[in-house]
Amino acid sequence: MKKVTIIGGGVIGLCNAYYLTKAGYQVRIIERGDIHSGTSFGNAGYVSPSHFVPLASPGIVAKGLQWMLSASSPFFIKPRLDWDLIRWGFTFWKNATAATVEKNATPLFNLLNLSRELTTDIKNDLGNSFRMEEIGCFMMYKSLQVEKHELELAEEAKKFNLETRFYNAQEIQDMEPDVEVNVRGGVLYPIDCHIHPGDFMRTLTSYLEEAGAEFQLNTTVTGFTKVGKTITAVQTDKGDFETEDVILSTGSWLPVVSKSLGIDMLLQAGKGYSMTFENISKNLRYPAILVDSRVAMTPMGGDLRMGGTMEISGLNSPQLIKRAQAIYKAALTYYPGLDVSFPDPKNIWSGLRPLSPDGLPYIGRHSAYNNLIIAGGHAMIGISLAAATGKIVEELVSNKPTSVDIKAFDPERYR
Ligand SMILES: Cc1cc2nc3c(=O)[nH]c(=O)nc-3n(C[C@H](O)[C@H](O)[C@H](O)COP(=O)(O)OP(=O)(O)OC[C@H]3O[C@@H](n4cnc5c(N)ncnc54)[C@H](O)[C@@H]3O)c2cc1C
Repeated sequence: MKKVTIIGGGVIGLCNAYYLTKAGYQVRIIERGDIHSGTSFGNAGYVSPSHFVPLASPGIVAKGLQWMLSASSPFFIKPRLDWDLIRWGFTFWKNATAATVEKNATPLFNLLNLSRELTTDIKNDLGNSFRMEEIGCFMMYKSLQVEKHELELAEEAKKFNLETRFYNAQEIQDMEPDVEVNVRGGVLYPIDCHIHPGDFMRTLTSYLEEAGAEFQLNTTVTGFTKVGKTITAVQTDKGDFETEDVILSTGSWLPVVSKSLGIDMLLQAGKGYSMTFENISKNLRYPAILVDSRVAMTPMGGDLRMGGTMEISGLNSPQLIKRAQAIYKAALTYYPGLDVSFPDPKNIWSGLRPLSPDGLPYIGRHSAYNNLIIAGGHAMIGISLAAATGKIVEELVSNKPTSVDIKAFDPERYR
């Protein structure tokens, strides 16, 4: 069987490997780290068909500019004279229109929906050692203005036959008997589910090791050997690896790695933070996005994770603890009696979301080479989209028709 090299061992790389291994390919994953931390580990773990509105959407630019004036806001762009950032920002701004969202929501929803089904299939195949709970996810709000926006969104969701349930403050309190909830109301999307992303990564890794996939860890890809339009080997700091097909799934580092192939990818890293409180005595029952503050709350068994913020400050900027403090403070205004304390800064996690300028991933073959597939740019929904991305990558390698139309995800759309 064909030798396939996957570069990047985040959730996208591992899901690619899962479906390729199942299809019988000889799979090698080259990962710079050790697959024990990184963006795919500390995120909120939602698998959410309800996130069908791409990140670039009307109002987001104005809201972002307003947020930038406050140090504790959920959004920050570090001002710098960087041509890639300027180009990305301009393209994002051009995409943040009702017409583009209208065009992109359907392909995004189809991919999300496929992925939701496939994530359950993975659970059925590998066992639920990643704490998957299929009880939906709340969008909770405190203000009338945000309520109005969420009700409009719920109306939009009807287009995709997504079930929505509306709850007032008392009804939500009844559903969360162990913690005090201070909200105006919320919309529950029952189709959504959540997992423990770190356990998901560990489950996939164990399966892949047993199934014979090769992990080349602590190995950085530095270049490629090419013959005409074919990549024949992947060059790394540990030597060269011959290959037949190459999949680039390097998350926020996609433009760095693609550059050595002469390919320019428009993408910025969007840093987010999370804190995990272990074995808390009175936990939430439902995951919830606290929409006014853009904070995500995820109960994971006895643990509780809170996460949020979007900081566009490059690949190597330091953690800003005040951003994590803002998440924590906002969470406590929704759940005032929560029995948690702000963690030691060394226990604050941060990760980099790979942001394309329209909020859609890049998935597909690249015409510069006859054996290169790109699978990246999954922004805020990489866990949600991982299973479907893996399945489509396998279909592309196998030259089969893809399960959903992937035209909208063309990696060359900003060439
Ligand atoms: C706070 C926060 C909350 C989030 N919550 C959710 C959520 O609830 N649901 C959801 O769907 N998504 C969520 N996300 C987004 C999700 O985490 C990402 O979309 C996803 O993890 C991206 O996966 P990836 O595999 O593309 O990238 P990564 O996980 O970053 O993996 C890329 C890998 O490539 C490796 N790499 C890079 N360069 C090289 C090289 N030269 N050689 C070898 N290896 C290399 C890196 O080391 C890295 O491990 C959240 C993100 C954040 C920050």
